Amino acid sequence: MTNSAARPENWLRVTPAGLYCEPGDFYIDPARPVPRAVITHGHGDHARPGNEHVLATPETVAIMRQRYGELAGGTLQATRYGEPVALNGVSVCLVPAGHVLGSAQLVIEYKGVRIVVSGDYKRRPDPTCPRFEPQSCDLFITEATFALPVFRHPPDRHEIDKLLHSLHLYPERCQLVGVYALGKCQRVVALLRAAGYDAPVYMHGALLGLTELYQSLGIDLGDVRLATGVARDELKGKIVLAPPMALADRWTRRLPDPVIALASGWMRVKQRAKARGIELPLVISDHADWDELTQTLDEVGAAEIWVTHGREEALVHYATQRGRAARALQLTGFDEEEE
Ligand SMILES: [Zn+2]
Ligand SMILES: [Zn+2]
Repeated sequence: MTNSAARPENWLRVTPAGLYCEPGDFYIDPARPVPRAVITHGHGDHARPGNEHVLATPETVAIMRQRYGELAGGTLQATRYGEPVALNGVSVCLVPAGHVLGSAQLVIEYKGVRIVVSGDYKRRPDPTCPRFEPQSCDLFITEATFALPVFRHPPDRHEIDKLLHSLHLYPERCQLVGVYALGKCQRVVALLRAAGYDAPVYMHGALLGLTELYQSLGIDLGDVRLATGVARDELKGKIVLAPPMALADRWTRRLPDPVIALASGWMRVKQRAKARGIELPLVISDHADWDELTQTLDEVGAAEIWVTHGREEALVHYATQRGRAARALQLTGFDEEEE
């Protein structure tokens, strides 16, 4: 008998519910409720409610419980980084992906074949989560959110300095920064602290729950406060964080002449910033940029590359040029705006 496991597509398949590992009988970040799910991280397009059994890191389990309550899943099994779990004879090990707190790559081993499903990831250090650990493997499955050579994210410190500069320039205004509730919000606060900013950071009510969860999980973010109910004058010369959707809300009318900022990898595209009325675009991304993606493909050394959600073509082309077998997976249901 030939080793049919040597061909990953014989046992790891794209289905309407998402990537499915047949011998292990589990789905990865399924788009609809399934009996067994392995979840890479807590963003809503990866961690959905209603699965019967969930395997994820303790932090991702905590995030899912906070977001979904009882609906988070029938049973939630927390497994730490680096501790392999056997699922029907398939070994699954979670290792850091550097994307948000609790984010993991899946290292799947079956009959001597090693597959890494990266989930979402970035390579630069993030004070709110452990750093991405490259794993050698036979097949590497990568995201491609910013997979075009035009996407090169500047150093975080550069962007944080732009925000602090604007703060000093306009002492009578506040800086209103759009941030996604999970990951970006807490990272921006942590980067501000690392840059020496120790004043209270104010936030929209929709951001406070996950921020407090991060703090309870040991991420030090200093003095963070609810912006609601704070006197207008008190917010002059302060930083206020809000979900991107709330930047144009009635809610902002209470703020002292806000400078509207948005922290996102998409802010690299000037037309996007302009179209959204962003005065201060901050290119801070939780996804790998082009250099980080290509560096990762080179480091993991996989002979085969599958590319999911984003700009697949350029990365497939890059890998093919390097002598890898590469293809785009037609996976749907992932939201790029989450970034
Ligand atoms: Zn994500
Ligand atoms: Zn994603």
